[in-house]
Amino acid sequence: MTQSHEPPVLSVKNLTIDIPTETGTLHAVRGIDFDLKRGETLCIVGESGSGKSLTSLALMGLLGRGLRPRADKMDFDGIELTKANAKTMRNLRGKRMSMIFQEPMTSLNPAYTIGDQLMEALLLHGGKSRSVARARAIELLQKVGITAAESRLSQYPHQLSGGLRQRVMIAMALMCEPELIIADEPTTALDVTIQAQILRLLMDLQKEMGMALIFITHDLGVVARIADKVAVMYAGQLVETGDAKEIFKAPSHPYTRGLINCIPLPGTTARGSKLGTIPGIVPSLIGDVTGCIFRTRCAYASDACRGDIPRHVSGDGSHAFRCVDDTGFAQKETQNAEVSA
Ligand code: ADP
Ligand code: MG
Repeated sequence: MTQSHEPPVLSVKNLTIDIPTETGTLHAVRGIDFDLKRGETLCIVGESGSGKSLTSLALMGLLGRGLRPRADKMDFDGIELTKANAKTMRNLRGKRMSMIFQEPMTSLNPAYTIGDQLMEALLLHGGKSRSVARARAIELLQKVGITAAESRLSQYPHQLSGGLRQRVMIAMALMCEPELIIADEPTTALDVTIQAQILRLLMDLQKEMGMALIFITHDLGVVARIADKVAVMYAGQLVETGDAKEIFKAPSHPYTRGLINCIPLPGTTARGSKLGTIPGIVPSLIGDVTGCIFRTRCAYASDACRGDIPRHVSGDGSHAFRCVDDTGFAQKETQNAEVSA
């Protein structure tokens, strides 16, 4: 954990991603804000299709196919990412910020050895000699718990198990000791035991290196274990944000409550009790999107939910949510309610 007066290493205001489609504009990410300090873990949580991956790709400058994110601010340690050119982004990626993807085979190149791929970032960005890069690669493989690290350098991705490949991905992301790591559902494809190991490992390395971590998941059980801050994303919007403790203590948006009811939490869920599910699906985000987009699935929806939705912020600013109903914080006072469409 870091001191509160320290400025954020990443500050995002009003990030918006529109995707042109044949039937109209798909409003995939709709004006999201968040801040992150060194050493902090922000978990972005939400169902599939809520815009989590597009958000991380936008931060990394990796939105393909001519998609440009818009934002009032996307500041990484003084660098405005929305204005950064391709060369600046290339220099940042792998050096000061790196990403761990869900499926390692999409980012590991089958044609190159593990060693070459690990060393590449350091040779490219770090200006290091081959022998230094090689020593660092071995060190990192050991750090991520890979035995016989040296002999792995000459192996190809297909020769490794899924769990090992994911560890190699993490090692690769850490080679240049980045200040920011974005992990997009990095353990979803792995079995539960390996998942727990990899999570532990990532948390240990984050502490050791003091990195800021954005961890994307649809698993609130994982969030409960690792998050300092939580951003709950639904249909391209952050419906609730705040300190993890606050979110779990007083989940305030009906969607967050629904998600929390879906997971077993130590001490709060009785053994063998039936887990909840949120009925319905995320509606289309093509064309005009107005009111609260969760209203089609919300048990408390009323006509007011078709209009402007206020954002309520707790007195100390540590917790916010968007809903026509402001009783979410339980007994807490709300300070300001800015209205947004
Ligand atoms: P998540 O990671 O939360 O599952 P994504 O960020 O991948 O969600 O996607 C958000 C929405 O944008 C989804 O509805 C998805 O279908 C849509 N989308 C993502 N990429 C494209 C694309 N290149 N073209 C059209 N639609 C896309
Ligand atoms: Mg995704």
